[in-house]
Amino acid sequence: MDSRIALRKTKHVVIKIGSSILMKKSGAFSVPFFRSLAKQIASLMERNLLVTLVSSGAIAGGMHRLNVKKRPHLIPEKQALAACGQTALMHTYEKVFGRFGIHVAQILLTRGDLEEKRRYLNARQAIFELLRLKVLPIINENDTVAVDEIQVGDNDNLSALVTNLIEADLLILLTNINGVYTADPKLKQNAKLLRVIADIDEAVHRFASDTKTATSIGGMITKLQAAEMTSHFGIPTVIAKGSKKNIILDILNGKECGTLVLAK
Ligand code: GLU
Repeated sequence: MDSRIALRKTKHVVIKIGSSILMKKSGAFSVPFFRSLAKQIASLMERNLLVTLVSSGAIAGGMHRLNVKKRPHLIPEKQALAACGQTALMHTYEKVFGRFGIHVAQILLTRGDLEEKRRYLNARQAIFELLRLKVLPIINENDTVAVDEIQVGDNDNLSALVTNLIEADLLILLTNINGVYTADPKLKQNAKLLRVIADIDEAVHRFASDTKTATSIGGMITKLQAAEMTSHFGIPTVIAKGSKKNIILDILNGKECGTLVLAK
């Protein structure tokens, strides 16, 4: 069967939302984006699809709340901003999903939760129970306690680990670019969007590291790491532009959007 059409059979999807699409230029949360996300997810939940969100935005939300203009480098500063911004983030999610009668739940994980068997199983059970209760789990890294040694470090890799943890059958990485290109589309006119990647080989990694715009620094690199990981777990990934209208519904309807990385 066509691999896009096969996505229509998805039963449990993990959707990862990057900070770049959650925030407006002013640094505030983009409420229209949150609303469109909630509308799409509500329609999936109505169809009894299981949905788990992995959302960034804690540090960015903290910066806005405390009027910090430049992203700090020092760990305690980042930890404090994340602690403050995470509540703002969840408050916004609560509001937009509340309109659809959907309860949300916050789960903050560190690397250790995913590496140590007992904690891994506990996290997994908690998420399954939330799904059974039809609550939307919203996961982020626990940035306030996660210093270098115990950090996953980015939510792309975290979402791949979560996809495996709960045995979802699709990972969607929503970002601010249409997918994976052969070069930086802002710098090279002939850059082509890759519709399907069967194998994340060196060439694909090279394309990603060629992408140096402000919007995708490191961004595509960690996305490909995540997609490579899920592919090895036997799960496909779609990397697509989050601001496109109904993007999640289109992906799950098997439409050709973004880049599909096939499962191994
Ligand atoms: N956990 C970080 C935050 O919520 C974001 C990490 C990432 O975007 O990869 O601010």
